[in-house]
Amino acid sequence: MTRKYKTFFLIITLFTIFIIQIVDAKRLSLENHVVTIDPGHGGRDPGTRYGNLLEKDLNLEISKVLKKELEKQGAIVYLIRKEDIDLSKESDYRKKRGDLQRRINLIESKKSDIYLSIHLNWYYDYYYGGAEILYNDINKKNEKLASILRKSLLVSKIKTREISTTDLYLYSNTKVPGVLIECGFLSNKDDRYLLQQKEYQQKFSKAIVLGLMNYFSQET
Ligand SMILES: [Zn+2]
Repeated sequence: MTRKYKTFFLIITLFTIFIIQIVDAKRLSLENHVVTIDPGHGGRDPGTRYGNLLEKDLNLEISKVLKKELEKQGAIVYLIRKEDIDLSKESDYRKKRGDLQRRINLIESKKSDIYLSIHLNWYYDYYYGGAEILYNDINKKNEKLASILRKSLLVSKIKTREISTTDLYLYSNTKVPGVLIECGFLSNKDDRYLLQQKEYQQKFSKAIVLGLMNYFSQET
């Protein structure tokens, strides 16, 4: 082989590697994917609590960190609430139901590819800890999404329980694929400490981002 050919083949090989890397990065990016984050509770509904520490506040804090991390990877992200409000109206006969129905309507109207509900757990036995991802079978994709996200949390060394199902109103009535992420237990000392740390919130969010990249790469 002449020197000229060798150079030619080298250039072709490098070019091919370059293209493969671009395709791979695109496959794993979240570009053009619409994610709606639902920070649980808010306003009149504090969710669970530990002393002055309210679930609704931590849910919003974590959701904002998650939004940033998703946007870094090109996702289009909507937050159902950006402040301490609930979505019920004075005219609602059942305030909680009104709040949840408006959350569902928002998720559906944003043409979301997926939604993520952010909550915190509580259990009377303070030994219980770790994140937990719950899903409803209304959409066949939900179980897959839950199990991919769980794996991603585990890979990122985040204590995580088995995935589980939920029949709560929002999850059994939202047709868009999505899951409920209980980020940890407010009743557990270790979880409570970690969930308030910016660093942990970021680590947790990055694990979710990684999980979504995997999920979407398997979609196409
Ligand atoms: Zn909650």
